[in-house]
Amino acid sequence: MQCPSCHSEKVIKNGRIHNHTPKFACKACGRQFVENPQNRISEDKKALIDKLLLERISRAGIARVVGVSERWLQSYVNQKYKETPRKVQVKKPKASA
Ligand SMILES: [Zn+2]
Repeated sequence: MQCPSCHSEKVIKNGRIHNHTPKFACKACGRQFVENPQNRISEDKKALIDKLLLERISRAGIARVVGVSERWLQSYVNQKYKETPRKVQVKKPKASA
C-alpha cells in the first residue's frame, strides 16, 4: 500500500468510509485516501447518471460523459435494478394508421 500523493509506504488504516471501504491515511503527507478510487462516485454524479440512463444514450456514452468506467456503470445499473422493482408502465400508443 502506497500513498497516491507522495508514494510513501508509511500508510495506516484510518477507519472506513460510508460504504465500508477501508480508508487510509499517509503518515508522511497526511493525505487520506481509499484503496479503490472507483468507489468514490459522488451522489451528484449518481443523480446525473440516473438522468442519463433515462435518455437514449448508450452506457458507453454515459460512462465517457460522466467519467466513470463502463464496468462501474454496469454494476451500478445492475444494483439499481435489483433495488427497484420495475414499476414503469409503458403505455402503448393507440394504434393509428
Ligand atoms: Zn503521502
